[in-house]
Amino acid sequence: LKPLPKDAPIGLLQDNTFSRYSGATNFKELPLSKRTQDGLKRANYSKMTDIQRASLPHSLCGRDILGAAKTGSGKTLAFVIPVLEKLYKERWGPEDGVGSIIISPTRELAGQLFDVLKTVGKFHNFSAGLLIGGRKEVETEKEHVNVLNILVCTPGRLLQHMDETPNFDCSQLQVLVLDEADRILDVGFKKTLNAIVAQLPKRRQTLLFSATQTKSIQDLARLSLKDPEYLSVHEDA
Ligand code: ADP
Ligand code: MG
Repeated sequence: LKPLPKDAPIGLLQDNTFSRYSGATNFKELPLSKRTQDGLKRANYSKMTDIQRASLPHSLCGRDILGAAKTGSGKTLAFVIPVLEKLYKERWGPEDGVGSIIISPTRELAGQLFDVLKTVGKFHNFSAGLLIGGRKEVETEKEHVNVLNILVCTPGRLLQHMDETPNFDCSQLQVLVLDEADRILDVGFKKTLNAIVAQLPKRRQTLLFSATQTKSIQDLARLSLKDPEYLSVHEDA
């Protein structure tokens, strides 16, 4: 066997190979693109947290995930990494439009996860946008939304763009993420989320992460999850 070139698009794991990586403890043991590895290294991430170790071997295979782990346990990287790897593997480019939507319940949390995405995705060429602005910024956002590959947004603002932005197109969506999924699936967002999901393609990967596990059949049906992997970890740290 010849060694792979350094920047080879190693891509996603085959669907049945996750078990080979289930014992991995460091990011460098996972078959991630060099760009993601470099982003992780630059941010000084080396050892995976429990939720990352439990979920990445599955999410990198393209599986749907319902992940639960308490606040501060590193859930952001558990979905940012598979988003980057999926789009990289698909050779996603400027003309391909929206490849991933990451929904967060509050502006503040959306801003924080956007910073993580920028840091770890630093060496990728994807365009990403934070769509959470106030009333004034919506017009500026509308000019840019159609050229973004990764959208980080709050539910209300995403729906506003779906309804108001000309040519808004997410028909090629590859990965949908709900961060703090239990809060987004809560009654307060129910109407908004249903309206959003109705406009998304059903064939996609869906990653749900929250502090508490949701197994409500209704919620899962609503999101058309496919044979999801339920992962709950409770860390001591
Ligand atoms: P959660 O979403 O579960 O509340 P975050 O993703 O916000 O957790 O991460 C909490 C903190 O842990 C952040 O400061 C983040 O930088 C740090 N962190 C996440 N993953 C790792 C890791 N593998 N190694 C070291 N620190 C990490
Ligand atoms: Mg979080």
